Amino acid sequence: MNEVADVTIIGAGVIGAAIAAKVAQESRQVYVIEKNESFGMETSSRNSQVIHAGLYYPENSLKAKTCVEGNKLLYDLCRRFAIGHRNTGKIIVAVDSFECDALEDLLNKGRKNGVEDLRLLSRRELQSLEPNIAGVAALLSPSTGILNVHELIKMFLNQAKELGAQVVYKSEVTGVEKDNALYQIEVDSSGEKFLFETRVVINSAGLHADEVARMAGIDIAGAGYTLYYCKGEYYSVSWGKSRLIDRLVYPVPPAKLTGVGVHVTLDLDGRIRLGPSAQYIDEIDYHIDDSNKRQFYAEAKKLLPFLDYDDIEPEMVGIRPKLQKPGEGQKDFIIRHETDRGLPGLINLIGIESPGITASPAIADIVSDMVKQIL
Ligand SMILES: Cc1cc2nc3c(=O)[nH]c(=O)nc-3n(C[C@H](O)[C@H](O)[C@H](O)COP(=O)(O)OP(=O)(O)OC[C@H]3O[C@@H](n4cnc5c(N)ncnc54)[C@H](O)[C@@H]3O)c2cc1C
Repeated sequence: MNEVADVTIIGAGVIGAAIAAKVAQESRQVYVIEKNESFGMETSSRNSQVIHAGLYYPENSLKAKTCVEGNKLLYDLCRRFAIGHRNTGKIIVAVDSFECDALEDLLNKGRKNGVEDLRLLSRRELQSLEPNIAGVAALLSPSTGILNVHELIKMFLNQAKELGAQVVYKSEVTGVEKDNALYQIEVDSSGEKFLFETRVVINSAGLHADEVARMAGIDIAGAGYTLYYCKGEYYSVSWGKSRLIDRLVYPVPPAKLTGVGVHVTLDLDGRIRLGPSAQYIDEIDYHIDDSNKRQFYAEAKKLLPFLDYDDIEPEMVGIRPKLQKPGEGQKDFIIRHETDRGLPGLINLIGIESPGITASPAIADIVSDMVKQIL
């Protein structure tokens, strides 16, 4: 890399990849620097793969706006580029009459966010749509679906590469230093260090985005950029029970929204999966054992009465990069051009937890507009 790069994107998860595809359209010299040996090996491959509708998030939040917009953009991309997906729909189920008010609240919240196709279901309607689910009422979200995230990221990166972008693996960014109008990026590539210069830096480093912001000189505690890790475990359900539901099934969300509650998703082969749970941890740790199996089973059994204890097995772990500490209220995505911190040309994306996949094409549009104003 002898010449000065126009745009350097740190991280080849779904967010960095979506941004690369978008900014490369302006035929700039774009680099994507990824520490792992391939794309999407962290949070982007450890999640529910759901195309969310956008009903949970506070009105006018970035999460709500980018999710509702991203939902439409994502279905369009999936159809155009033959990315595996299925518009399954989802039901949020009230298991007793106390939870029915919460369904109405969610309906209103969703409508305020622009999710127009939501519909309340009576017990009878729920039974006719999903005869194997227990519940007294439900909220139907027809535009929720599932997709193959690996194929999505690959498509974004292929688009970027066709437009001239370079994706560099096994290369960890270890320094970001402002040098007059440019940034000097230090990279550790399999033990060898090298430096290059770039006009714009996009920090889409997922769980490590706060560290990258710190490298650039930002006081991350003062800025509110510190990330807290929140582990989500998944359990898979035996194949024998796989065709018993057609839609994704969610509980009424818990009052303190750490996640959306242990829910029931499907993969594209029709297999049922439970999770994710939500537990704050100090270190990134993808280990899973069956110590939470009883709790998983008890929660899932409320929605899926056909489930037996032996039907479920621990499967995998994903970790949410949360901006809120345990017990704090929800926080929004941070997508910020850091001009007022004396760092023009640096764009930070911090706390891109769910619905980050759904929101990815809309986030890429926002970042691309910022880049156009810089260059
Ligand atoms: C349990 C769970 C369930 C979820 N379910 C859904 C869902 O159903 N639907 C939905 O829309 N969203 C969901 N999400 C959210 C979604 O998975 C994330 O928002 C999204 O994957 C974040 O993508 P990313 O590119 O920001 O991060 P990542 O995928 O983590 O990518 C960041 C990349 O940056 C690289 N990197 C980090 N530091 C450096 C460095 N210094 N140098 C070079 N490279 C670096 C990493 O190696 C990594 O590849 C879920 C998240 C979790 C945890």
